[in-house]
Amino acid sequence: MGLVEKVLMAPKGPSFSKLIQGYWRLGAWEMTAQQRLTFLKQHVEMGISTVDNAAIYGDSEVLFGDALRLAPEMREQIQIVSKFGINGIATAPGEHRVSHYDSSKAAIIRSTENSLQRLGVEQLDALLVHRPDFLMDADQVAEAFSELKASGKVKHFGVSNFTSSQFELLQSRLNEPLITNQVEINPINFDVIENGVLDQQQQHRVSPMAWSCLAGGAIFNDQTPQAQRLRDCLEVLAQELGATSITQVIFAWVLKHPANPVALIGSGKIERVKDAVGALALEMNTEQWYRVWVASKGFSVP
Ligand code: NAP
Repeated sequence: MGLVEKVLMAPKGPSFSKLIQGYWRLGAWEMTAQQRLTFLKQHVEMGISTVDNAAIYGDSEVLFGDALRLAPEMREQIQIVSKFGINGIATAPGEHRVSHYDSSKAAIIRSTENSLQRLGVEQLDALLVHRPDFLMDADQVAEAFSELKASGKVKHFGVSNFTSSQFELLQSRLNEPLITNQVEINPINFDVIENGVLDQQQQHRVSPMAWSCLAGGAIFNDQTPQAQRLRDCLEVLAQELGATSITQVIFAWVLKHPANPVALIGSGKIERVKDAVGALALEMNTEQWYRVWVASKGFSVP
């Protein structure tokens, strides 16, 4: 098995690994700091050098940072992505009472500084707006980004879950290209393939980051007719492609899109991470890609 290659996320960089390790669920993995470090080293050895985190992912940044502190030399071997913008529900009286978005300049800077502190690093390779804030003032976001860039706290900026018009609006206020739109892409939910978001990424030669490629596990576990149709189709394709699992077929399906996505892995089991890497060697043809589309929809293309 070869090393996972790096891809240019946008015309002027950065280069991230084609498969990225997601750390949203890190708290549930119940690993010691040493086990977390071992896991990190193992996926970096496979070439999965980019990691994804977020301020809202519970203790995930702290847990990741604790592992990294055991081997600070690992920092140079990885690219760290984190996100800001979601304020969770209040835990103390007098705090805000609903989960909400905040993309004011002060909130962006405060959140980023907190992420850096939790991760125990001086710089993020990329900072993403986690979700579109209905009250987003693009000028304020641009000001925050330029301050974070000038202070060396963040190298590159991107967004997540943005529509194409929200992406265009923010881009119009920035001096450098957004490097990604991190969006959900899997055989159960591929709205972005149909609503113009991936067209726009392809137009700008920006690689989307695909989250929940396995639909959070739903593809394996759901008993809906759609999930059952998908499993049947993916099993047949696995045989045709010589894949060792339907996981590999799903990642190959996501990665085939011409917008050139990079795919996030959500598993905390190194064997499953290794299995996903096998997807990179599969050659899925166009008709096979559409068979997954048809299995998901339950009807043929018009
Ligand atoms: P995912 O790969 O769709 O789902 C991972 C889940 O599927 C894990 O619970 C995993 O369990 C389970 N799983 C994997 N293989 C399985 C199998 N063969 N059978 C049964 N269950 C299986 O990814 P995700 O965790 O939802 O998302 C990946 C990353 O995307 C996150 O870590 C985060 O970084 C990012 N993300 C971003 C956003 C956003 O809004 N920007 C939203 C969600 C996620 P095990 O751990 O036991 O293998």
